[in-house]
Amino acid sequence: MANPLYDRLFAIHEGKTKPFIRLPDGREISYARFLSRSAQIAGAMTEMGLAPGDRVAAQVEKSPEALMLYAACVRAGLVFLPLNTAYTSDELSYFIENSGAGLIVCDPARKDEIGAMARRLGARLETLAADGSGSLTERAAGRSDRFATVDRDEDDLAALLYTSGTTGRSKGAMLTQGNLLSSALTLTEVWRFTERDVLLHALPIFHTHGLFVATNVVLAAGASMIFLPRFDIDQIIENLPRATAMMGVPTFYTRLLDDPRLTRELVAHMRLFVSGSAPLLAETHRAFEERTGHRILERYGMTETNMNTSNPYDGERRAGTVGFPLPGVEIRITDPETGAELPPGEIGQIEVRGPNVFKGYWRMPEKTAQELREDGFFITGDLGMVDSDGYIHIVGRNKDLIISGGYNIYPKEIELVLDAQPGVKESAVIGVPHPDFGETPLAVIVPEKGARPERAALEQAVRAALARFKHPREYVFVDELPRNTMGKVQKNLLRERYRDAFAAA
Ligand code: ATP
Ligand code: MG
Repeated sequence: MANPLYDRLFAIHEGKTKPFIRLPDGREISYARFLSRSAQIAGAMTEMGLAPGDRVAAQVEKSPEALMLYAACVRAGLVFLPLNTAYTSDELSYFIENSGAGLIVCDPARKDEIGAMARRLGARLETLAADGSGSLTERAAGRSDRFATVDRDEDDLAALLYTSGTTGRSKGAMLTQGNLLSSALTLTEVWRFTERDVLLHALPIFHTHGLFVATNVVLAAGASMIFLPRFDIDQIIENLPRATAMMGVPTFYTRLLDDPRLTRELVAHMRLFVSGSAPLLAETHRAFEERTGHRILERYGMTETNMNTSNPYDGERRAGTVGFPLPGVEIRITDPETGAELPPGEIGQIEVRGPNVFKGYWRMPEKTAQELREDGFFITGDLGMVDSDGYIHIVGRNKDLIISGGYNIYPKEIELVLDAQPGVKESAVIGVPHPDFGETPLAVIVPEKGARPERAALEQAVRAALARFKHPREYVFVDELPRNTMGKVQKNLLRERYRDAFAAA
């Protein structure tokens, strides 16, 4: 019997003195120490009466201990459920109630507040702080570091990971051992991770990107990571010379570009910069290459499917695209109305099938049936197309599509024109209700520092490039776009904000 995820990502490092985690203060945690501490945590949780399949909700600061808790869950057959540290106890109660978690692990500072909610929902509460203290650590401390790994199947749940909630309420994606393992092994191979790598890890660990992409790849390769609590530009600049690879969201790269300390010399020995979670602007791509000589590798993934596509390691990393399907992953583009497959060049919904695709939404059988087809393809909710060379382009989200007077308008098409105008840092085009057209595009513009782009110039650029029905009817100028922790633009908030723009039109 076996536990595929534990055996392949963790057990192989038993007894290794090599550092798995390096902290900014210079402390190092070896693989051996990491594994023995997580065995103790696994023992403590089993002793509490938690049984395989039970959910363990963790709202804890990013720390080695938080990852030990993840390893302990995998080993004990528990389902790991990491939660955004920014959530209030009211927000948390949805996740605890929906998941039916048997244990909540939170920061000691929030014990009373979250404890009351846990009691109400019948969940047990333990604490764990970023410095390693807390009731869970105390329970684990004196225990044996031998733990009989619980047998699991590839098809058993390893994690319940809630989506980011960009388009509505977060849904719990049921991820199996096989899902996580297949992505980790594939990415390690296609991105050429080896024991020699040192990953600069500045992402949060309550999303798929920081946990199941970045961390699992380091584990699968037996590499090391520099584990920063968050993206702090000074810490990034200080640690880049010690790393070989970085995985980030587009805002990491724009913030790096804003810093004069980012030079070719600083990153001369780096071998890979990856971007995902949100679209990387072509301008960022170009500026980063010009400044550092590195071409960022953009990829596309999501909570429900881990990783879908990646630009090639060798070969052209094409700006504005997310590359090709990963080995073993199939992508097709379909007509949202008929479900028929569309030829290259046509925009439709992106569907994914492969060992990476989740088992369904937790306790949402109807939603699961709507989005997970019987033939195994998952309807991602993203719109895109495949170009003549096979590169996949993401055009936006289905929910952000604007339907104006019966015409489909893809906001990205307009955003690309606006973003290219002098004085425009970035833009977001949304559909707002309009009495005549149903919906009409409105452009939200973020000017570059000190610039004041003229509305007339933007209108002219749009007129020159796009059919009339696509022209934004209104332009608003703002200092920044609302973004969530992963740097995703929250268009639902923008739609809410400008909902009445044409109410009296
Ligand atoms: P929810 O499903 O709750 O609305 P979400 O879709 O933002 O939230 P995630 O699973 O964290 O939650 O994000 C996945 C989404 O992120 C993808 O469906 C896609 O829209 C977007 N995304 C990921 N990578 C890229 C990329 N390289 N370019 C453009 N969009 C991307
Ligand atoms: Mg989603």
